Amino acid sequence: NSDLILYVNLELVNKKSDRRYIVEEMLGQGTFGQVAKCWDAETNSYVAVKVIKNQPAFYQQAIMEVSLLSMLNDKFDPDDQHHIVRMLDFFPWKNHLCITFEMLGHNLYELLKKNNLRGLQLQFVRTFSRQILDALIVMKGAGIIHCDLKPENILITPKVNSAAGVKVIDFGSACMEGKTIYSYIQSRYYRSPEVLLGYPYTTAIDMWSFGCIVAELYIGLPLFPGASEYDVLSRMIEMVGGQPPDDLLREAKNTRKFFKHAGSIYPGNEAHDGLRSSYRILTEDEVEARDSKKPKIGKWYFPRGRLDRLIFSYPWKNLNEGNLPEAEKEDCLALVDFLRGLVEFDPNK
Ligand code: ADP
Ligand code: MG
Repeated sequence: NSDLILYVNLELVNKKSDRRYIVEEMLGQGTFGQVAKCWDAETNSYVAVKVIKNQPAFYQQAIMEVSLLSMLNDKFDPDDQHHIVRMLDFFPWKNHLCITFEMLGHNLYELLKKNNLRGLQLQFVRTFSRQILDALIVMKGAGIIHCDLKPENILITPKVNSAAGVKVIDFGSACMEGKTIYSYIQSRYYRSPEVLLGYPYTTAIDMWSFGCIVAELYIGLPLFPGASEYDVLSRMIEMVGGQPPDDLLREAKNTRKFFKHAGSIYPGNEAHDGLRSSYRILTEDEVEARDSKKPKIGKWYFPRGRLDRLIFSYPWKNLNEGNLPEAEKEDCLALVDFLRGLVEFDPNK
């Protein structure tokens, strides 16, 4: 892809003076390296510098991050209007690739934690959702799959005229649609059915993660906090109702890790869109017998049950369907409707 080659040409990297970026504090640490808040002595401003681990595989993946993000920034969002982090610079330093970003605020997981995991007010859920969706639309237009959308990878933007805002960061797992290489992607709670099941994936997997994030922003806890992939999938089926469509199950590589094939239509098994399916998800006993290893039990109360019940009567705010004010009831109905469109088993939809 000629666009990518253009951006990856390391010969084009400016040689920086040794003392341009002065580290002030560490902002985060991940699989790919560390992120530091730095003072940029050349522009007299704060920047976030991601220092990638000095191993070839990480270096290569970081080159992909640089390529895809510069393409998104320069070609698809030149005026910085679509809530995608701005990359400012990149340079090699002692076998570490370093990427410089605009300095942003806390990530959404930190924000939820500060709020004691009780969820945000609907007005913030709405604003943030709209902005993330704006970013996702641009990414889809560019044919870029983020592959790791989650609250840790969405950052609050510094207050400009006190308007709340967010930006999508961390294109360290991103890839081009149609050039998907990895099958083990996305963080488990936000992993889409097609990735769990080993089915060819598209930008639709980000839309699934987005749905999980919207729900989490409102309830304060992850929607599908499964201790294992099986646990995540069975929570999806329990919460959303239905299951992945039969043709997806027939073609996916991992179907037999999770489902039993009944040979013919499995009696009484209501599948996607009310159609009867020839697959059913394994029972917990069947999985335990196979894995002989119990899933870990989380340390918090984790939501279970149907999506609509959860949204209408999540535990933290001591509300239930009965005493919700009319206006809030309507908001909840709209939110459930919105979420149902996002946590949709059929990627084509
Ligand atoms: P990784 O690929 O290792 O997850 P990220 O790019 O997601 O790396 O960065 C890790 C963490 O560092 C983020 O979750 C966030 O808290 C912090 N961080 C990253 N970029 C910025 C930024 N531009 N401004 C402020 N904090 C950032
Ligand atoms: Mg990250």
